[in-house]
Amino acid sequence: MDTTRRKIIQTLAAAGAVAGVTSVPAVAHAASTTAIIADDPVPEPIEGNLGATDPGPRNVAIDEMNPDTLAPPTTDAGIMPNLKFSFSNAHNRLANGGWARQVTITELPVSTDVAGVTMRLKEGAVRELHWHVEAEWAFMLNGRAQITCLDPQGRNFVDNVGVGDLWYFPAGFPHSIQGLQGGCEFLLVFDDGHFSAGSTFMLSDWFAHTPKSVLAKNFGVPESNFANLAPPSSRWVYPGQVPTSSAPVSDPYGTSPQSFTYHMMAQPPTQGKAHGRVRVVDSSKFRVSTTIAAALVEVEPGGLREMHWHPNADEWQYYIEGNGRMTVFAGAGTAATFDYQAGDVGYVSANMGHYVENTGKTTLRFLEIFKTDRYADFSLNQWMAVTPPALVQGDLNLPQQVMDALQKRKPIIM
Ligand code: MN
Ligand code: MN
Repeated sequence: MDTTRRKIIQTLAAAGAVAGVTSVPAVAHAASTTAIIADDPVPEPIEGNLGATDPGPRNVAIDEMNPDTLAPPTTDAGIMPNLKFSFSNAHNRLANGGWARQVTITELPVSTDVAGVTMRLKEGAVRELHWHVEAEWAFMLNGRAQITCLDPQGRNFVDNVGVGDLWYFPAGFPHSIQGLQGGCEFLLVFDDGHFSAGSTFMLSDWFAHTPKSVLAKNFGVPESNFANLAPPSSRWVYPGQVPTSSAPVSDPYGTSPQSFTYHMMAQPPTQGKAHGRVRVVDSSKFRVSTTIAAALVEVEPGGLREMHWHPNADEWQYYIEGNGRMTVFAGAGTAATFDYQAGDVGYVSANMGHYVENTGKTTLRFLEIFKTDRYADFSLNQWMAVTPPALVQGDLNLPQQVMDALQKRKPIIM
């Protein structure tokens, strides 16, 4: 039986009077308030007088997750690139210590500036010591982790992070990640859409591709010490023991004076005009994060992340929870609407107008990620409010009620 499309509803009077009921359990006849099970109607590609039913073949589960693709608003027009890719559709790489999957320019071709990885580490499991060409920004989604890093002055860094914490490793800085009690899951963001998790510089890989005589000379020990090196195929993400300390190893150069972590949730949010809030973290607050700026947006049911655009960078989105939809306006009469839920990636090219509407019954939480050192946006509402009214009215022929409602401070969320 298909259980995914069933939900509990309350009978209003007689159970049989509820539309869509295909089978009425006997118990439902006994009391008018008994909860019964009914099928949701299958969504159809119909918008007003446009469209027609789809007799199939069709994938109803995918259609239900994408109502604005199945039946787009009539304001959508023209051809837009795909602006959605779910991590659930991304190939997963499984290892002894956990797993990781990626959404890069390969999966989402419009995403030139940013690539993302979600990674799970079991308790004690280690993401092998490594570095890469790209900078790495991260958001902790579940559990706790311990990270290590080193700066070019030879100063080390260790910190433990939990849900909502960030880290940032500049390009080339060597680092590690380890799951603490219960393990963890996190989102990694790289400042190049071409990033691939398979192209990092890993410690075991370098050892395996260096003559043992050179290893012996480099470390000043006999060559026999390198007879039983762990093969690279056994590392990457491998099981380990939870570390007992978060104190850095004694370092004659000292520990790094710059923090590679940031407690995003400790930062008070900026309240929207209504229905939500936002936390913006860029290099003005998280100094080391010079190539990635981010905003954690929370939109309550009925709320709207207002119509706006970003002048300085593309926006790469990661949806954490809830349901939302976004229309992206590309200019020249072109616009497209996409629906998003947990685990989805969205994308908006720089300067394209967009909104994000909470279409669900719970809080919508998502990250806006930008390849830049400073967050920047233009609010449509605020722009109109502080522009000579005659110009605004001349452009749009707006009634006075709209002019009176314009907000001189960015509403952020309405
Ligand atoms: Mn890394
Ligand atoms: Mn935006």
